[in-house]
Amino acid sequence: MKTGNELAVHVQGLVKTYKDVRAVDGLEISVRQGEIYGFLGRNGAGKTSTIRMMLGLTKPDAGRIAIFGMDSVRDKAAILKRCGSLVESATAYPNLTVRENLDIQRRLTLSPRSSVGSAIEKLGLEPYADRCFGKLSLGNKQRVALARSILHAPELLILDEPANGLDPAGIAEIRELLRGMAKDRGTTVFVSSHILGEVALLADTIGIIHRGAMVAEFASQSMAELAAPRIELETGDTAQTVALIRSLDRTLAVEAGEGPVITVRGPARHPGRGELRALAAEISKAVVGADIELYRIAAAEENLESVFMRLTGGAE
Ligand code: ATP
Repeated sequence: MKTGNELAVHVQGLVKTYKDVRAVDGLEISVRQGEIYGFLGRNGAGKTSTIRMMLGLTKPDAGRIAIFGMDSVRDKAAILKRCGSLVESATAYPNLTVRENLDIQRRLTLSPRSSVGSAIEKLGLEPYADRCFGKLSLGNKQRVALARSILHAPELLILDEPANGLDPAGIAEIRELLRGMAKDRGTTVFVSSHILGEVALLADTIGIIHRGAMVAEFASQSMAELAAPRIELETGDTAQTVALIRSLDRTLAVEAGEGPVITVRGPARHPGRGELRALAAEISKAVVGADIELYRIAAAEENLESVFMRLTGGAE
């Protein structure tokens, strides 16, 4: 249970509507201090809108956001001193060099002189330090934006899709940097993404947002919690098979969609492999005994992608 004063971010009943689009719809989020929170959602799920409200860039229609216990609207200035952020595309003065751009940020945030060199080094920007920002590649622009966000050693980093434009090596470097900041300095990291694999590697906790509301929040290590093992089968007569399995045991959850795959979940949320095999054997015997052709039967486990697709309505 996360309690109020341990929380770096506490979002309660957040609502934001743009004309007829309800971008954020009663959103709840709790982020503990020092944790890396992956804010995962499909395009248009409401991630950027939420982040903009966290940073006081736009006001909620209802609900509230507390950052280190401070109100996102009333205490905006105090919050920004303790936060680093990267929202939407990386922008900076195009005709100034990387170093000059970072130096402006250093002065704005009253950070020590050494912070510029240190941020350049952490983001691997040494070869580009004296080049104009406008002439950099997309990935390097993103690195500059990240360097700027960490310059004043913030306690909380709020990053909207930081992997944008980075190549796989760059993504891995940023992941190491963020994990290091969380581990060594206790920095809290709130990072949005629609890239499942990346979030799974980076975050301690994953929150899945869909149509502006939280549909699941779990420790990334406890994927198994969500990914309940199940049996999948395909037969010559889907409707008859579904009825047959239901008549075998009423506690089984039997689902069949548009396609040929029938999914069966047992009453136990986390059946062991043996239990699942015994159930598969029982079902195949019954199907064959009823003279229905059995094409395939297997025990299946979900991964993050299938959990995400299930929770966010598949390929709709
Ligand atoms: P993406 O991954 O594509 O960036 P997102 O999860 O960040 O998506 P948002 O940008 O928060 O989603 O958008 C949520 C919804 O609100 C979308 O339907 C979007 O079109 C709408 N929306 C966002 N900003 C505005 C705006 N300024 N005016 C009108 N509609 C908006």
